[in-house]
Amino acid sequence: DTPLAQIDPEIAEVLGAELRRQQSTLEMIASENFAPVGVLEAQGSVLTNKYAEGYPGRRYYGGCEHVDVSERLAIQRVKDLFGAEHANVQPHSGAQANAAVMHALLTPGDKILGLELAHGGHLTHGMRINFSGKLYDVAAYQVREDTGLIDMAEVERLAKEHQPKMIVAGWSAYPRQLDFAEFRRIADEVGAYLMVDMAHFAGLVAAGLHPSPVPHAHVVTTTTHKTLGGPRGGTILSTQEFAKKIDSAVFPGQQGGPLEHVIAAKAVAFKIAASEEFAERQRRTLSGAKILAETLVKAGGGVDVLTGGTDVHLVLADLRNHELDGKQAEARLHEVGITVNRNAVPFDPRPPMVTSGLRIGTPALATRGFTDPDFAEVSDVIAKALTPDFDAAALRARVTDLAAKHPLYPNL
Ligand code: PLP
Repeated sequence: DTPLAQIDPEIAEVLGAELRRQQSTLEMIASENFAPVGVLEAQGSVLTNKYAEGYPGRRYYGGCEHVDVSERLAIQRVKDLFGAEHANVQPHSGAQANAAVMHALLTPGDKILGLELAHGGHLTHGMRINFSGKLYDVAAYQVREDTGLIDMAEVERLAKEHQPKMIVAGWSAYPRQLDFAEFRRIADEVGAYLMVDMAHFAGLVAAGLHPSPVPHAHVVTTTTHKTLGGPRGGTILSTQEFAKKIDSAVFPGQQGGPLEHVIAAKAVAFKIAASEEFAERQRRTLSGAKILAETLVKAGGGVDVLTGGTDVHLVLADLRNHELDGKQAEARLHEVGITVNRNAVPFDPRPPMVTSGLRIGTPALATRGFTDPDFAEVSDVIAKALTPDFDAAALRARVTDLAAKHPLYPNL
């Protein structure tokens, strides 16, 4: 028995069951990925024991000589990866990173302009009961009903009308690239800061497969666990100009002791993200998403694809003309062993707990080693699973074959 199994068999059983679930099903939640074993090793290490309030070389605790090394490596690697002047790798999560940036650059009551949650924005971009919506005065831009795309003329009109102190660009559910230069032009025009939240597409940026917001934004935030494929956490990039304000907004402004075990794991992930192997994985991620979009468009049967396709790692299926709602479709795919999440489509007639859409992503399967033919196979399974005469057992068998073809964590 492992030490965990001896001291706490109930939790050991959860870990084992979750490992088996990840191994035997196909993970297509667009915000998820599989961290490499090296990342898991760093994250599950003795570094969790260390208090290190402050920053490398300027700590409020003794004994930080080793965590200083790993935090400096994480900072340097992420700066090199994205060509940023300054990095703060301490935010515990993407939400904490966004909170810290707003804390650094805004005063409660200031106006922010972000993408509406129901149109693909994130909670922290101004949702009513999130800190961002409670502390700041929120205006939101939407996607166009006819194209599903963000209309930059409308962003400009709203910016001029509301005179925000910060414009937030970035999304949790949007299948196309943003025009960062245009966002910056509009921000400059109204005297606003531009914050880009690249949490979803950071891995694509790192691989050079998506435009980088870093040259355009005052500040860029990201999570480290989505397309980047690292440990769960957040990171902030900025020019030198905002370095001091951001660092002091993270600590002591927002957080106490940094999670040095997670920061070491971030350093490992940033190293991997600079490799050719990582870029190749991101190419398969993009290619897989395109195959999925094409397959769903061709299948028809009431499944529409928002914007008609994708330029990123996810596809938004629109089920407004389908017999299944988002909740039922999510359950249907779960039944055949594919995990996705239901997602509101813009102008969704159904409530947020039900929705009329699915968000389906390819990063985790690309990490498992999926290539184009594998993505074609899983796309066909998804399309068939959403038809009335679907054969659950046959589809589940095809999922099992794909999972067996690309073993996950074979040595865990
Ligand atoms: N920003 C965006 C665009 C996201 O999609 C998410 C997570 O879904 C976050 C921030 C928040 O990250 P976390 O869940 O680590 O707080």
